[in-house]
Amino acid sequence: MQSNEQNISTPKFCPHCAGRLAPQMIDEKERLVCQECGFIFYISPKVAAGALIEDEGRVVLVRRGIEPRAGYWALPSGFAEYGETIEETAIRECREETGLEIELDDLLGVYSVNSDFYGHLILVLYSAHMVGGELMAGDDASEAGLFAPAELPKDLAFQAHCQALRDWGKTRPDRFSKPVRSWRRV
Ligand SMILES: [Zn+2]
Repeated sequence: MQSNEQNISTPKFCPHCAGRLAPQMIDEKERLVCQECGFIFYISPKVAAGALIEDEGRVVLVRRGIEPRAGYWALPSGFAEYGETIEETAIRECREETGLEIELDDLLGVYSVNSDFYGHLILVLYSAHMVGGELMAGDDASEAGLFAPAELPKDLAFQAHCQALRDWGKTRPDRFSKPVRSWRRV
């Protein structure tokens, strides 16, 4: 992916003084600079986190109730709030979307995503297990379920989640009688 590509709408005004932003070369890179106060508007990727919650060899997935990819299955995940640790984000998003209280086990992977909808994202996914709560479809989800590796739905929402499931399969060869099939975003 081209991480510097700006495929989200470009801001036009300075968030500090409402002056007009204009492209300007700074350290050999084009930046948006306020023409009034000189503020440099850095366009950064959005950061999201979530978890692959495993329970007796099965994985928790939620069916998305909202765009992007409404109706498709995904790992519970969402955007980091300002001031939150990334671990807190993963735990909160799982609570909101699945009703489950979880404990994080390991870092599963960090995925760079170029989303048509959100632009450049960094997604941090943990492996985790349940410690409380009850599985239910919460915020932004229309359904939630537990799936064995052989029963995973084909209509997964995001390429990065497919990759995460493959990465999980590699760490748990005992769970798979044959290699994890190559999921594709449909
Ligand atoms: Zn300004």
